Amino acid sequence: MFEFFLNDKEKAYWNEARDFVKNDISTELIRDMDAGKIETGRPLVEKAGAKNLLGARFPVNYGGRSLNWTAEVAAVEEVGVLGTSLSCAFVMPSIVGEALNLFGSDTLKEKYLKPTNQGILYSAEALTEPRGGSDFFGATTMAVRDGDHYILNGEKRFVVGAQDSDYFLVYAKSAPDAAPHESISCFIVERAMGVTVQSIYNLLGTRGGGTGRLVFKDVKVPIENVVGKLHGAYQIFNRMMIPERLLSGAGAVGMGRAAIEVAARYSTRRKAFGSTINNFQAVSFIMADAVASLDAARSLVFAAARLVDSGGDGRRLVSEAKKVGTESAWMAINNAMQMMGGIGYTTVYPIERFLRDCRLAMIWTGTNQIMNLLIQHEYYKELNRKKGDARDVEFDAISPDEEEKNYG
Ligand SMILES: Cc1cc2nc3c(=O)[nH]c(=O)nc-3n(C[C@H](O)[C@H](O)[C@H](O)COP(=O)(O)OP(=O)(O)OC[C@H]3O[C@@H](n4cnc5c(N)ncnc54)[C@H](O)[C@@H]3O)c2cc1C
Repeated sequence: MFEFFLNDKEKAYWNEARDFVKNDISTELIRDMDAGKIETGRPLVEKAGAKNLLGARFPVNYGGRSLNWTAEVAAVEEVGVLGTSLSCAFVMPSIVGEALNLFGSDTLKEKYLKPTNQGILYSAEALTEPRGGSDFFGATTMAVRDGDHYILNGEKRFVVGAQDSDYFLVYAKSAPDAAPHESISCFIVERAMGVTVQSIYNLLGTRGGGTGRLVFKDVKVPIENVVGKLHGAYQIFNRMMIPERLLSGAGAVGMGRAAIEVAARYSTRRKAFGSTINNFQAVSFIMADAVASLDAARSLVFAAARLVDSGGDGRRLVSEAKKVGTESAWMAINNAMQMMGGIGYTTVYPIERFLRDCRLAMIWTGTNQIMNLLIQHEYYKELNRKKGDARDVEFDAISPDEEEKNYG
């Protein structure tokens, strides 16, 4: 962790999160979730809520701490060592809360945001549909107005918390004939309004979160549960992608760090050819690769957090933080397993669980291919904007022959 990045307030929150991870979450909970004996992250949410650790960026009167993104990424890196299911439970109030806090009415904030941050309500987000998750604006879940209600019909899949959440943040087409970016509304839908769960998935990792498919069949949602402007969910979606992706990156870095720490300690004890294996460069250098890559990823996560804290448009850096954070973690966990030889592949050590968990991090909250799509798009835009701002090094070529610059 880069403690030197943090001011006193940020550091205090990071320390609280670290203590929470160390003292309040039992190994038994982690094992039971991985074994599918528990299918909910609610135990973590209740404990973290009681300690005022959830939704830390949100105002104090809505159960938050009025902290910033920098403090949150530092804390989420710590929570990341618990694996993706528990860190997902920890960050969900921050993701759903971003929509409620910035776009929701005071009534919605009082009714949902505050008890969510307090760990009283357990929340989930329902964006992905069986038809596809990457093409968000192609949503086919429909919302049709009926007096002072909307009637929702459709399906969402891969929803963490499908099994046990009290309510869902749901995106649905409310203006199907409008342009895609003006066709979707965002709703708070309580399970009790008639949401049903059709299947809970068997997963490679990230187990125990009750990840399932939701069915909305004539679900009646009161008009006051629309978040933000009708048909204006585009803005909400864009904003929610900051916590989704930034915190995915931060949590993954934590998981990668945890794996490499286990392997590094192992390497100073395990002997081969009469020497501890850390003395073999083949071992210590892949550790160095992982440590350097995680440091680079963490730097990006913090830079993106600082940028968003300062009011900047973090679209490119946030996407990079997600992509680089998750890929560095994947590499670090693989290297950790390699450093440990066969025992790293067994359940004697937690590396295999980190590996199973981490694979998802490159898929959810927008695949890393979708991150590339965003990064290149933003980069070309920036390049265009910056034209003429700085020295054009193209003309420093030794023989800049314009005639030879044939662009086809
Ligand atoms: C365990 C788990 C938990 C999840 N939790 C949630 C949750 O709580 N809430 C929620 O709403 N969703 C959740 N998701 C869904 C997740 O975010 C999606 O799976 C992800 O966004 C990809 O969508 P998809 O699976 O439909 O793949 P698709 O969109 O079908 O994509 C398939 C492939 O095509 C590629 N692709 C698609 N379009 C493009 C393009 N334009 N350019 C380049 N490549 C492209 C993708 O990168 C991918 O490789 C979860 C998923 C899993 C597996």
